[in-house]
Amino acid sequence: MIPLQALKAAVGSAGWTDDPDRIAPHLVDWRGRKRGDAALMLSPATAAELAAVVRLAAAHRIGLVPQGGNTSLCGASVPEPGGDAILVSLRRMRRIRSVDAVDQSLIAEAGVTLSEVQDAAEAVDRMFPLSLGAKGSATVGGLVSTNAGGVQVLRYGTMRALTLGIEAVLPDGTLLDQLSTLRKDNSGYDIKQLLIGAEGTLGFVTAAALKLAPQPRCIATAFAGVPSPAAALALLARLRTAVGDQVDSFELMPRDGLDLVFEHIPDTRDPLGGSHPWYVLAELTSPRTDDRLSDALEAALAAAIAAGEVADATLAATEAQRAALWNIRETLPEAERVDGASVKHDVSVPVAAVPSFIAEATPAIERGWPGARVLAFGHLGDGNVHFNARPPEGGSYDAFRANGPAITRLVNDITVAHGGSISAEHGIGTLKREELVRLANPAKLAAMRAIKAALDPLGIMNPGKLL
Ligand SMILES: Cc1cc2nc3c(=O)[nH]c(=O)nc-3n(C[C@H](O)[C@H](O)[C@H](O)COP(=O)(O)OP(=O)(O)OC[C@H]3O[C@@H](n4cnc5c(N)ncnc54)[C@H](O)[C@@H]3O)c2cc1C
Repeated sequence: MIPLQALKAAVGSAGWTDDPDRIAPHLVDWRGRKRGDAALMLSPATAAELAAVVRLAAAHRIGLVPQGGNTSLCGASVPEPGGDAILVSLRRMRRIRSVDAVDQSLIAEAGVTLSEVQDAAEAVDRMFPLSLGAKGSATVGGLVSTNAGGVQVLRYGTMRALTLGIEAVLPDGTLLDQLSTLRKDNSGYDIKQLLIGAEGTLGFVTAAALKLAPQPRCIATAFAGVPSPAAALALLARLRTAVGDQVDSFELMPRDGLDLVFEHIPDTRDPLGGSHPWYVLAELTSPRTDDRLSDALEAALAAAIAAGEVADATLAATEAQRAALWNIRETLPEAERVDGASVKHDVSVPVAAVPSFIAEATPAIERGWPGARVLAFGHLGDGNVHFNARPPEGGSYDAFRANGPAITRLVNDITVAHGGSISAEHGIGTLKREELVRLANPAKLAAMRAIKAALDPLGIMNPGKLL
């Protein structure tokens, strides 16, 4: 029996709803592909309220599904269909508890959005160096729980590197207070790292202490046409030799991707004259106004042109030009969506292996499914490729999607053969659960199951996800 009255009382009248119309938007994922069921949504306002909910759920073995902004791209944030789990939204925990320019840290509750974190950091002349397309909706709890990345991972790392401490409610309802901003803490197991990237399967993140960085004051941005991904990597190596870790972003796009953007996104145009097989968007930044990053970028590009690694390039001379270059990269997923759905993969391989991964996986798809079109783009500097298979020209996705599982197995096999991961950024959720079991190292899987059994022996946290 679900103790409905006690659960509702734990969060107060503003903290629950059983109105199907209010719950409905929370039961379908961002891409509209995963739909689940839940008869009750709880929205605790404090960690103490949440702890009371979890204690009740543990006592009655009720499944709990944590949800932040519901922007998960792997079906992790919606309940399973036909289940009786309760949806728990963290969006009412919205306080930024502190922000400290000297300590370069910010403590925010789980329901604070990424945009709000960025704004709070900016208000004290600092930056939170993580950004992604869903920043207006994605929350601190969700970002921590998916170990989100984005376009600055190359320099600043993923949420794992940017999270200094967390406060969490564990699956038995105890409050774990590890909300320190310590840079050094070798006092035993680092429990926060278990919850980062756990997709809500090991407990609720209620707040996180995040690492800030100085604001960039000198920014140099280039858009370059290159003959191949290998040539792009040669340019990355040149830039690193020239400016070290001031390389913030290094993104790769194919010509087909640019064509989709110019066709579907208003007010976009090709920043370069001719047509090139691949393009790189590179950005260098520094907190010093007098760093001559444009000179360094120009010199590296000139040397790369002389070496045949770059065919043509342009530097952003104004903030508007910089925004226009970034707009091409940032609207590419949207342009692809407008053009039609695809079988998507978010994989990573060692950075140096990206060229051989693309060179092997692309013809493998084209051979296996004649006419299929590959769109490979992403965070080249992190070895992270969004490797999408699109239906043949004029073909419908509905007919093509039946090939999805076989295409995914092939792409994942080639990824693993290159020493890679089948989920670089988006997580496992329900979308990649079977592939994780098929391909993960058995010792790692056994350790993951042992950790899950130790922390959540009743299996109440986000049932059906990840494991
Ligand atoms: C347009 C778009 C662009 C994106 N770009 C990127 C990108 O560049 N890089 C990248 O890494 N990702 C990207 N993502 C995916 C990204 O991982 C998620 O958007 C984000 O991290 C999830 O935050 P959320 O608050 O929406 O969490 P949700 O989607 O609500 O939840 C995500 C997971 O975290 C769990 N969870 C949520 N809150 C908590 C909590 N407080 N405690 C415990 N578990 C919790 C959920 O159960 C679920 O498993 C993108 C998504 C979209 C829609």
